[in-house]
Amino acid sequence: MWKWTRPDNIQLLILDGDTLEEEFLTYPYSKDGKIIKKIIVTKTDKLISYENSIMYFDLYDLIQEVMEKEKCESYSIISISKDILFLKSMIEYHIGTILVGNLIHDFLKNIPDYDVLTIKQIVEVLNYDRKGYCAEIFATYESSKKTMSLLFCNESITLADGSERVVDLYFGGRYYANKHMYILNDPLSHIVKQFKSRYVKVVDLFFDLACRYIAQIENVDSFTYIPLKPADIKEGKFDRFNNLKLIGLKKENMQLDTFLRCIKDFSQKGNDLYVRREIVKGAFEVIKDVENKTIVIIDDVFSTGSTILEAVKILYEAGAKKVIAVLLSVNQLTESSIKYKNLKCNICGSNMKLRMNKSSGQLFFGCENYQEHENGKSSTIDLLSGMDTLKEINKLEVVDIVDLQDEF
Ligand SMILES: [Zn+2]
Repeated sequence: MWKWTRPDNIQLLILDGDTLEEEFLTYPYSKDGKIIKKIIVTKTDKLISYENSIMYFDLYDLIQEVMEKEKCESYSIISISKDILFLKSMIEYHIGTILVGNLIHDFLKNIPDYDVLTIKQIVEVLNYDRKGYCAEIFATYESSKKTMSLLFCNESITLADGSERVVDLYFGGRYYANKHMYILNDPLSHIVKQFKSRYVKVVDLFFDLACRYIAQIENVDSFTYIPLKPADIKEGKFDRFNNLKLIGLKKENMQLDTFLRCIKDFSQKGNDLYVRREIVKGAFEVIKDVENKTIVIIDDVFSTGSTILEAVKILYEAGAKKVIAVLLSVNQLTESSIKYKNLKCNICGSNMKLRMNKSSGQLFFGCENYQEHENGKSSTIDLLSGMDTLKEINKLEVVDIVDLQDEF
């Protein structure tokens, strides 16, 4: 999914000349049969021989210059690079991003719109034949699309005996926490929050599909989940994973099984990575035989990964052969200097937010008072048109560059 780009409006590609190979820089990218204009940007003067190359010192100034010169909006620009930090800045300026290469664990906080390996895949993205990350697609369209992907990376963990193991991590998409106000209107984030307290069909569909996918590529023996904490059980908190139906998985005679029990209450809110890892130590115990088994474990949000990695660790320590983690989403760091504008209700003028229709599960934008508005439904906006409008009103504005040169 493009977070800030309006796919029908793609006008310009910004290619990072300092990290992409020549074949990526010279390829004639097209959309619906029409060549898309491209600009090669570089911090060195090595690439100046390329047609349409620009040298830059400051990315923000560069984007301003390009937008003005090419008469296009930030939502019409896609940036392509092998450097996640280059793309991180692009995300901050509300520009679309394609990473060429594999994601690595250290950069999970700034996931680009797409990660690809080949030119062919870039062309698929530009023509919307590759739709994006699986859970984001489910959250937005309420159904699967042909070409969805899971984000993948792996992490090594050290067991109590000092030996090292690798865990494969699969993610459904990006999650933006409440404090990142400017991306509050994100469908997957909204759904992740709903899932904490009630059954959400698209979450069920996501885990069902993701688990069956892993079962096709690995010899999985069992599927399990992160269990509720003792205090949550006492309070009667919604047991979200045990309420999943996982219909496709059941048809193939597989289901979620309980392998872990949580034996202490812990809170990870507001703690840093080190504290989180310490706090979660000893939180789980293995209650079933896992000896020599390949186990898939599921959870909803990966932030520092402390909870899921602790669970994986004790499964390995109890003798599991291989443990694979599937997470609905991964928490993003989304700083931006661009002021975020919300949709406004055309009746009362207050901010509109994403809401979920309780019976259909459909997402829509509505203000706080939408139910009291006389013309009820006409005061709400459907999800896709709302997201499209948000991209437009939150584009990067071109500022007039003041000439600061004086006589010196
Ligand atoms: Zn209103």
